[in-house]
Parts: sequence; structure tokens; C-alpha cells
Amino acid sequence: MLIDKFGRQITYARIAVTDRCNLRCFYCMPENAMHFLPRKDLLTYEEMERLSKILTDEGVTKIRITGGEPFVRRDLIHFLTNLRKNTKLKELHITTNGVLTEQYLDQLKSINISSINLSLDTLDEARFLEITRRDEFTNVMSTFNAILYHNIPLKVNMVAMKGKNEDDIVEMAELSLSHPISVRFIEEMPFNGSNEDHGLISYQEILDILSSKFGELSKIQDPENSTAYHYKIPGSKGNLGIIAAYTRSFCGTCNRIRITPEGVMKNCLYDGGGLNLRTLLRDGSSDRDIAEALQTAILNKHKDGHLAEANRDKSTFESMSSIGG
Ligand code: SAM
Ligand code: SF4
Repeated sequence: MLIDKFGRQITYARIAVTDRCNLRCFYCMPENAMHFLPRKDLLTYEEMERLSKILTDEGVTKIRITGGEPFVRRDLIHFLTNLRKNTKLKELHITTNGVLTEQYLDQLKSINISSINLSLDTLDEARFLEITRRDEFTNVMSTFNAILYHNIPLKVNMVAMKGKNEDDIVEMAELSLSHPISVRFIEEMPFNGSNEDHGLISYQEILDILSSKFGELSKIQDPENSTAYHYKIPGSKGNLGIIAAYTRSFCGTCNRIRITPEGVMKNCLYDGGGLNLRTLLRDGSSDRDIAEALQTAILNKHKDGHLAEANRDKSTFESMSSIGG
């Protein structure tokens, strides 16, 4: 089992399969100056399958595939299908921007994907273009509707940003009135690949905006280890979540690690470095060696994201796509 020095057991791994993307969301990456990894530096699917097996042998039961945009990597479905053969893996989720996703929904359904997180920051087409710098709103909305049609559990993730889309919060929340989905509002984090600051809307401000429109929201039970605080508009089919990703008030129950596209295991989004698994996967290390290296690295997990951030090199500016958001 993978347990840190505070007794937290790691049962959830987020694996980023690529740092590339077909959108350029300004809160995630610069428009032009992104230096994507050469292919040889990405973990291969075989390496990720081996790693997943090692992780599930050590008690991981849930994996989320993310990126960059997972569907820009060729043969993703084949990889997901292979992951699904691992009977120790109870949950397999994916986070996607929805641009290419619709054509794969039949296959995602047939491998029993546990849920899809769809990123959508506005319901306004022009604003979507401003935020993502790509004209793909129609495709993403079509994916949204198709996920509902396929009856795949759906969470919609909106990064809430002051002066950018705070006036979309109410309309986004209204999606939960008639759809059985979770609409989640995420505090913006400082991972846009530059030192540009955008102005935070905090968890409390998001809650205030929602409450002033819908009245007092019902607080509902948060799933174990959830990073979101869940609420419901009375009478709605779905629910709302607020993720205090910048305020970081949920670290005490953290059960997760991240694997970056180049195979670095990070204990926390806010960590600077991490364990280079790619080297271990390629230098003849046995599964046992890798499991032991993971356990040792997990012992160094900081108590919370603030301590992780305090210990990172502040002179480099990472993009969420190269960490694996
Ligand atoms: N491309 C996929 C997508 O957008 O869903 C998966 C990767 S993306 C990095 C994963 C999630 O991170 C998305 O929901 C995105 O909105 C979120 N994200 C990216 N940059 C962020 C930032 N600076 N602060 C908060 N969330 C961010
Ligand atoms: Fe691409 Fe996702 Fe980053 Fe947007 S948030 S640029 S969709 S990786």
C-alpha cells in the first residue's frame, strides 16, 4: 500500500497521456510559446499500462486520464480498453475538453467509463473563443448533449475567473436544474505557463454569487476524498460543486498522485519536482523496485498544497497541460 507520513493512503492516480492540446485556454497555456514534449519523452501506452498495474497492486483503485487533451493522442481508446482489463481498477474516469470526444462515446460507453469530466467555462460562443482561442464551441456543446444521450455520468468543470466569466456562473449552474449532472466551479490556479495573474474568484465568492441568485443552497454530502464542496439548488436534477483549488482547504484528505506526460510522479499539483518514473520504467527496474520508489517518494508528500508550493522553484512557470490537470 502507498501511504504517506500523515497516514493518507493513495488510492487515486491521475495520468496525463499528453501535454498537447487542440485548445489554448488562456488560464492553462500561452497562445504561441508552448514547447510541447517530443514524442520519445512521453510515456508509451505500454509503460502507462505497466505503471497502472503496479499502482493497482499497491492499492490504487481509481485512475483519471487527463492531459493536455487526451483525445489528441492517437489510439487512446485502445489504451483505455486495455486499462479496463485490470480487474483491480474499480474506476476509470477521463477529463476532456470535448472537441474530439463525441465520436468516441459509443466506445467509452462500451468499456464502461466511470464518468466524463467535460471542461466548459461559458455558454457564450464568443466568450468561449476568447477563453480557449479556438472556435470549437459547437463541437463541445454537441459532445455535452451526446454524453447526456449516452447516459454517461457527467461533470462539467468551469474555471471561474474574475472579470472573465464570473457572469457565466449562474447560467452554468442552471445546467444542473434540468440535467442530472454535476456543475463544478474551480478556483483558478497559477499554472498558465507564464507569470501572468488573472484575479481569483474564491470559493466563498462563488458561493455568494450562487446564493444571491438561487437563495440558500442545500449542502449535500461530499463523496469521500472529494476536492469539491457539493450543493444543490432545491428541486434541481443535478448538483453543484465548488473546488477550492487555490485556497486549498481539502488537502487533509488527499488520496491522489499525478503522473505527468513525461512520467514524473507528483504528490501534489503544487510540487515543483517529483519522482522520474520514466527512467525507472526504461532502465530495467523491476515492478517491485518501482513500487518501492513510489512508496519512498510518497512518504515525502507535503501536508498540504501551501507547503508544497513553498518548497517549489518559483522561477519556472508551468502549464496545467504539462502537469496533468
Ligand atoms: N484538456 C482537458 C480539459 O480541458 O478538460 C484535460 C486537461 S485540463 C489541464 C484539466 C482541467 O484543468 C480542466 O478542467 C481545466 O479547466 C483545468 N485547468 C487548466 N488550467 C487551470 C488553471 N490554471 N486553474 C484551474 N484549473 C485549470
Ligand atoms: Fe487544453 Fe485542457 Fe489546457 Fe484548455 S485546459 S488548453 S483544453 S489542456
